[in-house]
Amino acid sequence: GAPINASSIDLLSQHFPLCMRNLHLTLRKNDHLKHFGRLQYTLFLKGIGLNLEDALIFWRASFKRKTDDEFNKEYKYNVRHSYGDVGGDATRRGRGYSPFSCQKILTEHPPGSNEAHGCPYRHFSPDNLVALLQATGVNDRDVLCGVREDVAEDKKRYHIACNRVFEYAHKAELRKVKEEGTWPASELDTIVHPNTYFKRSYLLKN
Ligand code: SF4
Repeated sequence: GAPINASSIDLLSQHFPLCMRNLHLTLRKNDHLKHFGRLQYTLFLKGIGLNLEDALIFWRASFKRKTDDEFNKEYKYNVRHSYGDVGGDATRRGRGYSPFSCQKILTEHPPGSNEAHGCPYRHFSPDNLVALLQATGVNDRDVLCGVREDVAEDKKRYHIACNRVFEYAHKAELRKVKEEGTWPASELDTIVHPNTYFKRSYLLKN
């Protein structure tokens, strides 16, 4: 598969769950992300294996309208902090923070109107959610109907919706590994972490 470095993130984003797709698309559209979006996305990218050096190259290049000086003053520290390169207590030094689980993304810091962090299955209106799914290539009517039901007020099964989309997007690959019995059963469990979504997609598509 594609190597994991600063210049492959656009390509790799095809393997991202919708929360991270949304952050990536918003970053590319606005050349910017707000604080919690940067935090959620930085830690996810760290979790897929992007090292600190590449993370700094990626963020510097993504904030096209900022000068080097602005970038260094306003953003660089936080990226380094996420990686445990600066600040934090002794237990975090050299290690930094863990990527957020779905549970954390679903329950903490709900996004405001101009923020792109959070989970689209939970934080988008159903119509905006379906539009985003269609923009990422999910056009199957049954899948979209299923997602609408999953996220409805009486169900609120957000990560079931996410897993439904994963299964749809990897249908052929999943059928193959199930038939061949080449995947451990644990790798077929419900996905409850964005980095698990990435890891499985990356492995299945390569
Ligand atoms: Fe991301 Fe989890 Fe929401 Fe899926 S369910 S979009 S992985 S936060």
